[in-house]
Amino acid sequence: MTNMARLAGLDCGFRASYLDYATLCTQLQRWADAFPDLCRLRALGQSTEGRTIWHLTLGPDPDRLRPAVWVDGNMHACEVAGSSVALAIAEDVLRLHLSGEDALPGVPAHVRERLRDVLFYVVPRMSPDGAECVLTTGRFVRSAPRDRRQNREAPRWQRGDLDGDGQSLLMRIPHPAGEFVESREVAGLMVARRLDDAGPYYKLFPEGTIEPFDGSNIPDPHYLSDNQTDLNRNFPYAWMPDHVQPGAGDFPTSEPETRAVVEFAAAHPEIFAWLNLHTFGGVFIRPLGDKPDSKMHPGDLALYRQIGAWAEELTGYPMVSGFEEFTYEPDKPIYGDLTEYAFNQRGAVSYVVELWDLFKRLGKPRPKKFVDYYSEITREDLVALARFDSDENAGRLFRPWRRFDHPQLGPVEIGGANPVVGVWNPPYERLAEVCSAHAAHLLRVAALTPAVRVREVDRAAAAGDVTRVTVSVENHGYLPTYVLASAVKLDFNEPLWARAETRGCALVDAGHAIREVGHLEGWGRGFASGEEPLAYGESKGSSTDRRLTYLVRGDGVLALRVGSCRTGWTTLEVSISPASS
Ligand SMILES: [Zn+2]
Repeated sequence: MTNMARLAGLDCGFRASYLDYATLCTQLQRWADAFPDLCRLRALGQSTEGRTIWHLTLGPDPDRLRPAVWVDGNMHACEVAGSSVALAIAEDVLRLHLSGEDALPGVPAHVRERLRDVLFYVVPRMSPDGAECVLTTGRFVRSAPRDRRQNREAPRWQRGDLDGDGQSLLMRIPHPAGEFVESREVAGLMVARRLDDAGPYYKLFPEGTIEPFDGSNIPDPHYLSDNQTDLNRNFPYAWMPDHVQPGAGDFPTSEPETRAVVEFAAAHPEIFAWLNLHTFGGVFIRPLGDKPDSKMHPGDLALYRQIGAWAEELTGYPMVSGFEEFTYEPDKPIYGDLTEYAFNQRGAVSYVVELWDLFKRLGKPRPKKFVDYYSEITREDLVALARFDSDENAGRLFRPWRRFDHPQLGPVEIGGANPVVGVWNPPYERLAEVCSAHAAHLLRVAALTPAVRVREVDRAAAAGDVTRVTVSVENHGYLPTYVLASAVKLDFNEPLWARAETRGCALVDAGHAIREVGHLEGWGRGFASGEEPLAYGESKGSSTDRRLTYLVRGDGVLALRVGSCRTGWTTLEVSISPASS
């Protein structure tokens, strides 16, 4: 059997449906068992309910330090499409290594070659407790199904399945001051009430109970539902407490999931790119999250423009600035989110992808600020969604209303919608194309890796038994050895170093045993950076190369090790024999 046939035989169906935890574990274990030289499976951490947060390392010789790309999905419990896309990326990386010339159609040979030297760290499901709750009960969970609030007296909604159909949907209660009416066009579809709408009017609440219930007062439902913490507000960069940033958690990395990610990231400076997968919307969201583009380093901005151009080309999604197009309140940044941590504290080319371009598929024109898509959903959009659901989503979204005797509220109706497949995540029929488009995009970003090489350029006899060896340290990659211009200031973002050891022979200048090479630029200039020929198009001087000369006395071997904690290390051995040189 060929490797590719073997790989296909291991597939657990993640491109066609959303895997529960047991099946996800089976998928990961199968790859790790089948390809132990390419795929290492380890625990990143443990969830509160005792599930392992799995972490795949992909690439040959996984312990050899070299530039690495991080991919995580499904930190938000409902956003299970992120797991599928993360697994698709992992599978494409396996394809890259397992097959020859036919690997990844459309990726040129020289790009495949570059990609084979990148390590991939993939965490397909950051919040396994949350995802399991969503997939097995249909209950809305923002991140993880836990609530450690100390103020237990204030009533709150607890979502859950009351009528035993295995889903946690909505409840409607007729009320003269109800804010909702049933659509005249689509039976059962609830829409916001307008002045000219005749009754009946309804109040809409989550399926569930009120804890504690005083017998009369109904609390507001909350976007975090009955979970306390939003993992994507719990990261340490620009963290703010809960009264400033809802969902922040008790302190940065107070949750086992965020703690596990941060501990790994802090120990792995070689991560140069970071993909944080979410749904839905159909957009790439990049830094800066807290400032306008005018405050961004122009080199970093040009780099993101290139990644954004590829995003449009391969996925049809635009890339927008978090601050300029994704602040829910004008000029108020989101605090404690993962990609800002990865960009600002780990110096990685990080971004969010909100998978599934539902708005575009409903024919909704793009608003000036992308985030307004979410707030400007109209009755007409909901009707279009209902049509989409019956035509293209096998009617998975909408559920009929059924009478139910609520233990606290008396007679209600339960039904409405289950948005897991079709709104929060793509329909199963669309998942495969989402997976392949995003895997293709991520591999292009991975190919930007810095690529440090060292080669001998000259070896010549000097006075007596001394030989002069000249080597060139070169970065053949797109990105510079410091990755992001804005990240040069980070302590760990060290310059390249050259360490020389001798066997038999000796360095004339013992001070050359460890030399600072400095940072090397990459060849990449981003997109529309004003550096095309005719505009301002000439190379910089020797910015990608640096020469080092060593004087070596006697016969033997000069062994050089060049690199940094970000780029990994590359070696060169030069044989010295003065008589023959
Ligand atoms: Zn999300």
